[in-house]
Amino acid sequence: MPKSKRAASSAIAVRKSKPEVVKTSGHASAPIVVPVAERKLNFGGKWNYAPAPETTKVAIDARYELFIDGKFVAPKGGKYFPSLNPATERKLAEIALAAPEDVDAAVAAARRAYTKVWSKLPGAERGKYLYRIARLIQEKARELAIIETMDGGKTIKESRDVDLPLVAAHFFYYAGWADKLDYAVHGRKHEPLGVCGQIIPWNFPLLMAAWKIAPALATGNTVVIKPAETTSISILHLARIFQEAGLPEGVVNIVTGAGETGTALVNHPGVDKIAFTGSTEVGKLIAKALVGTPKKLTLELGGKAANILFEDAPLDQAVEGIISGIYFNQGHVCCAGSRLFVQESIFPQVVRKLRDRIATMRVGDPLDKNTDLGAINSKSQLEKIHELVQSGISEGAQLVQPWCKLPEKGYWFPPSFFTGVTGSHRIAQEEIFGPVLSILTFRTPEEAIERANHTPYGLSAGVWTDKGSKIFKMVNKLRAGVVWANTYNKFDPASPFGGYKESGWGREGGIQGLLPYLKLA
Ligand code: NDP
Repeated sequence: MPKSKRAASSAIAVRKSKPEVVKTSGHASAPIVVPVAERKLNFGGKWNYAPAPETTKVAIDARYELFIDGKFVAPKGGKYFPSLNPATERKLAEIALAAPEDVDAAVAAARRAYTKVWSKLPGAERGKYLYRIARLIQEKARELAIIETMDGGKTIKESRDVDLPLVAAHFFYYAGWADKLDYAVHGRKHEPLGVCGQIIPWNFPLLMAAWKIAPALATGNTVVIKPAETTSISILHLARIFQEAGLPEGVVNIVTGAGETGTALVNHPGVDKIAFTGSTEVGKLIAKALVGTPKKLTLELGGKAANILFEDAPLDQAVEGIISGIYFNQGHVCCAGSRLFVQESIFPQVVRKLRDRIATMRVGDPLDKNTDLGAINSKSQLEKIHELVQSGISEGAQLVQPWCKLPEKGYWFPPSFFTGVTGSHRIAQEEIFGPVLSILTFRTPEEAIERANHTPYGLSAGVWTDKGSKIFKMVNKLRAGVVWANTYNKFDPASPFGGYKESGWGREGGIQGLLPYLKLA
């Protein structure tokens, strides 16, 4: 079996202030007496998964152009940048770099499409285009999932079973609203805003595109969208679906490029609204740039969610929820449950269960259907994770990682958690955006609420308990836009999503997600 497809072994490394490897099971030379509570089945690493690589062939072009006015066009400056597969570091394609003149052309095309066609179409007609796009996404879901995995590093089981079904579901959901907007706004007069500039990140490239494009089009707006530099390919394949669906030219325009392209879009006088998902830092820059302009703004920014585990919760289910809460999509999730608050009485038990569970996680080839943790999206993101993990070690927390052989090429980080974390540690305050959990403890519900809310963010939270009354008490006091109870990271197009405080403004998804794209009288 290739090295990259090997499962993590059950040995665990615990790193303290001075990194060292402590083998707690499996590899000791002398027999170990294992306490009864610690005993578990041990297959000695002999049972393993056979490789299950995705075999569907997809065609990735050598070069991708900009998508403006319904056509693929070369950038005016003639510049291109590479898009790498983060699991292999191999170049997948080169992507057009949009200069400010290209952004001008895209905004002009969106304006023409808005005035001449899209804003004049009845809602039912707009809905038909959206339904058609949703069905085409379903038809091509496998191909799109593979592209998403190759360009971004996420596992095929997530892109195939989570991202793509949700992408189609968002188009279906907002298609349904296009001719029912009067009911969404309770009879008030409404009109579209005009041309919307949209900027999206690299963690869910197609899903973020769907979150932004579907409600904008359903409400009668046109769009100029900029994907993240490292993940442009899948949205350019979505552009082909727009062509196949016969979407009128200029209704959606795609400008690929780096932060400068985003800045040109934000500052463009022809844009009526900016919708941004990404870091709080860039979100603040955008908010400052728009002060004093008539442009509307929605921001979906970072998070440092508290996942709160009470002693009366069903522990095995909770452990699975904690695992998916932090390790889903390599932890590249703004609402990841990255701070776990465990009630003090069950702390040792929970740590042991988590330690055993991460030792079974498979890190490696994202295109293998058995892989649990794929590649980190980029070299710079991997460096950021290393830097924050090192800060945790330096500040005195204990790092727990499974022993696992990582592929030699590509960007990888094993599933990890820290114990001995205090609220003042950087790893308890800053978004790591990687597969790293910080575990803290609490004694009473009041203490859990106070410590959970002690963060500049307020995007999401989780509560695990057997008591419905405790859930109600907690969800009412947690300052977070989304609170999951006895589950985590569940998404639905009908549910609004968004944050408090430095996690952003406005909501995406649900009826609420229509309002930021409408002018209400
Ligand atoms: P950024 O906020 O830098 O990027 C998000 C998007 O904004 C990308 O399309 C990016 O382009 C674009 N952009 C960057 N600078 C500007 C600018 N000045 N004006 C307009 N658009 C701009 O996130 P990063 O990719 O750098 O990730 C950094 C951190 O942000 C992560 O570690 C994570 O903590 C957080 N993050 C949060 C996300 C969330 O969902 N809330 C999603 C992604 C990241 P380009 O990619 O070309 O630079």
